[in-house]
Amino acid sequence: MTRFIFITGGVVSSLGKGLASAALGALLQARGFKVRLRKLDPYLNVDPGTMSPYQHGEVYVTDDGAETDLDLGHYERFTGVASRQSDNITTGRIYSNVIAKERRGDYLGATVQVIPHVTDAIKEFVRSDLTDEDFCLCEIGGTVGDIESLPFLEAIRQLGNELGRAQTMFVHLTLVPYIPSAGELKTKPTQHSVKELLSVGIQPDMLMCRCDREIPEGERRKIALFCNVAPDAVIAALDVDTIYQVPVSYHEQGMDAVVCRHFGLDAPAPSLKRWTTIVERFRQPEGEVTIAVVGKYTSLLDSYKSLAEALHHGGIANNVRVRLNWIDSQIFEREDVVQHLEPCHGILVPGGFGERGAGGKIEAVKFARERGVPYFGICFGMQMAVIEAARNLAGLKGANSTEFGPCETPVVGLMTEWMKGNMLEKRAANGDLGGSMRLGAYDCDLKPNSRVREIYGVDRISERHRHRFEVNLDYKPMLEKTGLSFSGLSPDGVLPEIVEFPDHPWFVGVQFHPELKSKPFDPHPLFTSFIAAAVRQSRLV
Ligand code: GLN
Repeated sequence: MTRFIFITGGVVSSLGKGLASAALGALLQARGFKVRLRKLDPYLNVDPGTMSPYQHGEVYVTDDGAETDLDLGHYERFTGVASRQSDNITTGRIYSNVIAKERRGDYLGATVQVIPHVTDAIKEFVRSDLTDEDFCLCEIGGTVGDIESLPFLEAIRQLGNELGRAQTMFVHLTLVPYIPSAGELKTKPTQHSVKELLSVGIQPDMLMCRCDREIPEGERRKIALFCNVAPDAVIAALDVDTIYQVPVSYHEQGMDAVVCRHFGLDAPAPSLKRWTTIVERFRQPEGEVTIAVVGKYTSLLDSYKSLAEALHHGGIANNVRVRLNWIDSQIFEREDVVQHLEPCHGILVPGGFGERGAGGKIEAVKFARERGVPYFGICFGMQMAVIEAARNLAGLKGANSTEFGPCETPVVGLMTEWMKGNMLEKRAANGDLGGSMRLGAYDCDLKPNSRVREIYGVDRISERHRHRFEVNLDYKPMLEKTGLSFSGLSPDGVLPEIVEFPDHPWFVGVQFHPELKSKPFDPHPLFTSFIAAAVRQSRLV
């Protein structure tokens, strides 16, 4: 039997509901349960794939090719359970499914309404694609009181009623602010938020109160009394120095015990060794390296969430702290790269879209290549590395990507067809933007004796993709003459997946997104190797 835990948020957004859900998932897993985590997003986009990173942060891509909310990245990093398309739904997708059914005549003449048709579709999603999971944790995006989250709240209320308390639990995350002038913690926002939840028929079973300090027993009891929950089900979700401390801190507050009691489960106490080891390593590094991340969306760090985490995982694996120096590549149009990049021990150009800032990224690649500074190019960062080599080493001055418009020497061009398993995928230049990139897990064969073959330790890998353009193999012979090696190719040999300069201390460009699969307890080998190279570089400068 799968039990459902619904996690809602109140008072303000950005309280870290995704992390809280992920940490609860990790705790239940540590008690021996099988978990799945899901996100229900109230916006009207069918998925976040077409949204600007400034709006929504990173788009997290699953193995099965779904473009999803970045919280799914937290879920995967904390539990190791690979997310799927069926783990993220939006109002847009629900409505487009309901409307498609209506057009097919599936509702047999009924008037199609939010209740029951939309709420039924939400409930169906929540219960779909589950097998032997003990728990399915469903996070509801947004804040209680938003107009757009109402159908989701109604759907989970109905589910609570249909499945009963033995199979459902409601967790509400709120804020308990400290008011310095009064010298007091305030419980009123939590009370109001719970009232709001009660007005749609949901009585929370547990409250997680974000707070910057311990919540004294008196305040805890007050919250319990006014919000009608058991005093020990008022959990203080305190600020911590690293996100990997969150499961440990929740456990200390008794969170997993309250969940087990709610469901009448007698589970052994969890072993949190995995988390305490990571936290210890994080807190007591033996050194430090600085990595320059030269990108476009550097003012909103959520845009590079998985990337930042993966770099820290590489640090954990090497016992060093990784300091991230976020650089907006456009700055190199005005200022010299040297002053910005010289103090760094590694340079990374991440995924990106569009021409703005591309010139600055190419400058960063050139600096890394010429100075022998470790370079890691991811997706767009690989494409920029190839353009740099084409222009500055192969003498193809007009080399560019057709992403920026028609050009004479298209070393990076639009992918119009590729194989997905046994199926041929085709794209037209004027097709839809949503969901039409080469998405999800694809295999890549590694060249014998290459750096990446040594790093991965296997001949064939599978990594997640999200791109529309590719390095043009017509230019492979010319590029190889410059010393650039095509060390990873799709199994059919038609798509370049990895390039590297074997003579450089560490220079690797990958067409996929390795950061999406890195976990703190299982750092991605490319990030581990890149940070190790940065450590060597730090000893030189
Ligand atoms: N814009 C490039 C493409 O579509 C790179 C995409 C990315 O970096 N994710 O191929």
